Amino acid sequence: MSLPVRVKIKCPGCGEWFETGYWASINLMVEPLSEEDVEERITHQCPHCGKKIVLTPDLLVTSEEWLIFEADREQEKIEIEFLD
Ligand SMILES: [Zn+2]
Repeated sequence: MSLPVRVKIKCPGCGEWFETGYWASINLMVEPLSEEDVEERITHQCPHCGKKIVLTPDLLVTSEEWLIFEADREQEKIEIEFLD
């Protein structure tokens, strides 16, 4: 099972940086997560302004359901800095 890495991301709403855990890979064939679980992992809330930011994993092993979910997600370019 994969684990999140510590990163800093720049909030596109207020421009402040904050730390969060980034899931670089999510494998739905190994971990049968619900759409809500996946959404919780990839969504990060800015502690400064409350904006919700979606970070897409580098690697996604997926199912048909995920493809539908992915097509719906918000597209934003996020600045990211790896801490580990
Ligand atoms: Zn913010």
